[in-house]
Amino acid sequence: PLPVVAVVGRPNVGKSTLVNRFIGRRAAVVQDVPGVTRDRIPYQALWNGKNFTVVDTGGWEPKATGMAAAIARQAEYAMKTADVIVLVVDASVGATETDLAAARVLRRSDRPVILVANKVDDERSEAGAAELWSLGLGEPFPVSALHGRGSGDLLDLVLDAM
Ligand code: GDP
Ligand code: MG
Repeated sequence: PLPVVAVVGRPNVGKSTLVNRFIGRRAAVVQDVPGVTRDRIPYQALWNGKNFTVVDTGGWEPKATGMAAAIARQAEYAMKTADVIVLVVDASVGATETDLAAARVLRRSDRPVILVANKVDDERSEAGAAELWSLGLGEPFPVSALHGRGSGDLLDLVLDAM
C-alpha cells in the first residue's frame, strides 16, 4: 500500500487547491463556497519518483455538533489512517477557534504533522504565517496553493516525513 497524506483544515483555507498542486492537475474541486468537497477523497500523486496517496477532506455538515467538533473528528480520523498529516490554515485570516480545535487534536499525534500557512501569495504576507506558531505545531510552512509558491518545497518536506 502507498503512503497516505491527509490534508485537513477548516473549510475555505485552500485544501483542495493544495491537493491539486500535489497531484499536478485540477481533480479536486475548488469552490468559493465552503463545503463542496465530499467527506474524504483519495488521489494518487507522484513526486521525486515516489508514489503516494493524498486525501482531500471537507464537506462535512457541522450543523448539529458545530464546526470545532466536526474538524476534531476529521483530525482524529486522519491520525488513525494517514502516515503524514497536513493541517492547512489560512494565513491571511490567522488562527481561528476551528483551527485551534484541529491543532489541539493533532498536537497529540504520533504521526508527523506539517502545519501549512496557505494564501501567502507574496513576501508581505509572511508575517501572517509566523503568527501561526501559536497553534503549537512547530514552524508554519508558508505556501500559496493558488500560485504554487512554496509548494515544491512543501512536497519535499512531506516526502521526508513519510
Ligand atoms: P477548501 O475548502 O479548504 O478545499 O478550499 P478551496 O481549495 O476550495 O479554496 C477556497 C478558496 O480559496 C478558493 O476561492 C481558492 O481559489 C482560494 N485559495 C486557495 N488557495 C489560495 C491561495 O494560496 N491564495 C489565495 N489568495 N487564495 C487561495
Ligand atoms: Mg475542498
